[in-house]
Amino acid sequence: MPEGEISLSRPDITALDERLVLETLRSGRLSIGPMQEEFEQLVARASGCTNGIAVSSGTAGLHLALLALGIGQGDEVITTPFSFIASANCILYAGAKPVFCDICPQSLNLDPKRIEAAITPRTKAIIAVEAFGNPAYMDAYAAIAAKYEIPLIEDCCEALGTTWRGRKCGSFGRVGIFGFYPNKQITTGEGGMIVTDDDHLADACRSMRNQGRPTKMTGALGQWLHHERLGYNYRLNELSCALGVAQMRRLPELIERRREIARTYIDRLRGISELVLPTVEPACELSWFVFVVRLSPDYSQAERDRVLQGLRNHDVGCADYFPCIHLQPPYQALGFAPGMFPIAESVSHRTIALPFHTRLSERDIDLVCQTLELMISREQLSRD
Ligand SMILES: *Cc1c(COP(=O)(O)O)cnc(C)c1O
Repeated sequence: MPEGEISLSRPDITALDERLVLETLRSGRLSIGPMQEEFEQLVARASGCTNGIAVSSGTAGLHLALLALGIGQGDEVITTPFSFIASANCILYAGAKPVFCDICPQSLNLDPKRIEAAITPRTKAIIAVEAFGNPAYMDAYAAIAAKYEIPLIEDCCEALGTTWRGRKCGSFGRVGIFGFYPNKQITTGEGGMIVTDDDHLADACRSMRNQGRPTKMTGALGQWLHHERLGYNYRLNELSCALGVAQMRRLPELIERRREIARTYIDRLRGISELVLPTVEPACELSWFVFVVRLSPDYSQAERDRVLQGLRNHDVGCADYFPCIHLQPPYQALGFAPGMFPIAESVSHRTIALPFHTRLSERDIDLVCQTLELMISREQLSRD
């Protein structure tokens, strides 16, 4: 990172986090221990679910959720083209077919009407994502899933701590998956968590993350080398779990700080007519994940890309969250092509993720906003 750069994201690590990680390191117990258990309970409680299963990443959690639901060859799974690629890759890992539906231009989440139109007898699940943490329509997706008797998988990786009509994200589907990469609301370095009220599903996930071992050890020797199903090593080590426990204890404080930063951004950017700012519906208590603005519809992708480059040239971290999944090479190779999901494509060509983390000062935010305004006016001048 060049000196003076305002970074796009940054984990919030304090002496409390350091202490618990160090204590765990010194304990000698580095895998499958008390920190895993405590971390699972904390995340399950924060998401209104009875079971938490810690895994090595959000992606691993999505993979296990699909396998535990028995999804495989010949099955179709509906998901959004406007997300991080893991939301769809898990479908390919399971050998099933991703079916994308276009999004709503306001919430950036799947359009419920299009989901219903895409359901076939082969549809075996819906993976709904809270785009940038926005929980809009989560209850509508749950209703559709119930109507067609298929499971809703909630990829809530961006929504830890968010509620919609008083209900916690993670609890809308049969199963929810969180991720703890360092740019998320809390981090474990790498890590994820499956949450569910379904004990049977939880048991299958616990076994599969641990090489298919039985979840209840019996017999004098235990059954450490008995593998009752095909499993994986998707465990989360104790050091990461300790960091997760310490971070979860500070979650309300982290959410509040992120909310303040978002408010300051909205206040500073409100007057720029070329920008569409993120909105939070009254039914939503948002735990802010990222701060993503977009240029108005008359801007092209090339213009947006020049604005991003200009920001970077001025040491302002930024990103194009998200390029459409269906246009990534492995998906184009499956036959997906430009023009198939025009709303998602149009939105994704105009988004700008701005620096967003708890350590931003007002001065940083002012600098980011002034630079953004300058880059936009430069684009306007070059048009005239
Ligand atoms: C972060 C994220 C994931 C999981 O990412 P990992 O890096 O595997 O933890 C999955 N889906 C979405 C929408 C995400 O934002």
